[in-house]
Amino acid sequence: MSKNSANENLILPGSTIGIFGSGQLGKMTAIAAQRMGYHVHVFSPAHDSPAGRVANLEIQGDYTDLDAVEKFAKQVDVVTLEFENVPLAALEVAARHTRVNPGASTLSKTQNRGLEKQLLTDLAIPTCKYCVVRSLEELKAASADLIPGILKTTTDGYDGKGQFVIRSESDIEEAWSSLQTEEAILEELIDFQFEFSVIGARNADGLFVAYPAVRNEHSNQILDVSFSPSGLDSETNAAANRIVDQVMNALETIGVLCVEFFYANGKILVNEMAPRPHNSGHLTIEAHVTSQFEQQVRAVCGLPLGSTAQNSPAAMANLLGNVWEGAEPNWAGALAISEIKLHLYGKGVPAVNRKMGHLTTLAGSVEEARERVVAARELLSSPAAAELRESHAAERA
Ligand code: ADP
Ligand code: MG
Repeated sequence: MSKNSANENLILPGSTIGIFGSGQLGKMTAIAAQRMGYHVHVFSPAHDSPAGRVANLEIQGDYTDLDAVEKFAKQVDVVTLEFENVPLAALEVAARHTRVNPGASTLSKTQNRGLEKQLLTDLAIPTCKYCVVRSLEELKAASADLIPGILKTTTDGYDGKGQFVIRSESDIEEAWSSLQTEEAILEELIDFQFEFSVIGARNADGLFVAYPAVRNEHSNQILDVSFSPSGLDSETNAAANRIVDQVMNALETIGVLCVEFFYANGKILVNEMAPRPHNSGHLTIEAHVTSQFEQQVRAVCGLPLGSTAQNSPAAMANLLGNVWEGAEPNWAGALAISEIKLHLYGKGVPAVNRKMGHLTTLAGSVEEARERVVAARELLSSPAAAELRESHAAERA
């Protein structure tokens, strides 16, 4: 553990950053941190994980093993996280030994969709109509006003997991039993024109910067494609930025935080927030002066925040495990489009709906970027690509 500065808030290169969680977000944060001269230790229940493979040290431990958490915290200069559902008890133990950014003030709210919605309501930030329910009877009562709606577990949901779309009364019982939860939130189904997100960064002095909004398209409630510029008018984008600033201030967040929005009938509504680097910000690696991952490092280490300026229109397409169905994806086929950047996280099993990697491209226009990244992804699994691959293999034989 190195103390480099008289300024208590400043954690300088050469120090060690600890990360709770070891997936792709941790991996990309670790890479950014190491480029800047930091050491990285990751802590999670996984072994040989995406982040663990690039970290200086991978610690396999359960978040409820507070002795292991304490040992991890003692060996690092700051703890951050890529997984927002780290139990609060673990954060509290870590905070006794080192700085934890973002801390319990943020996580205690964002770990529960009900508390998150309550915060928005308290701040008079527009969100959808909702009701927290704790039994089938309560769900039935709430449904009167909120069908068609979407039932979500208040905790632990991600990538559309823990959600059930209730189209009519006949879905209610199945919805409640399928979620297997003691508490859920029923939200009205918003008929939005599109979705977008804004990633903000806030440091210990309360300084705030925001990235330009990113447009997001989901498929089966999982992010599919993101692109930027978003096409939002500057007033709407500024209004969204103010909301992110307000939320981060209220939560005293140190680090980056993403707010997901719906755009419906000329209005913006907050969908949800995530106090960590976000899938919709992956394109900042190629397209922006400072990536969201470098920004996270800067914010949690007390360094000045980096420019969020965008250098080029860009688009990103997620690669779910589905891309592997049938055969190994045709990487050479997609990369034959020379502007395509491949990111693979190094996860073992390419299960259906599991985020395995993504493609990014820059282009002269956002339309071109979107078209190109989707075309490249299709090449990974298209029959034409498979044929091409086979004929190359035959030529080599
Ligand atoms: P997750 O944590 O899985 O990302 P979200 O609440 O963001 O959960 O839901 C995933 C996606 O499902 C959203 O991006 C959106 O496309 C859709 N969705 C969620 N809530 C609503 C809603 N109330 N109305 C309409 N669509 C919704
Ligand atoms: Mg979401």
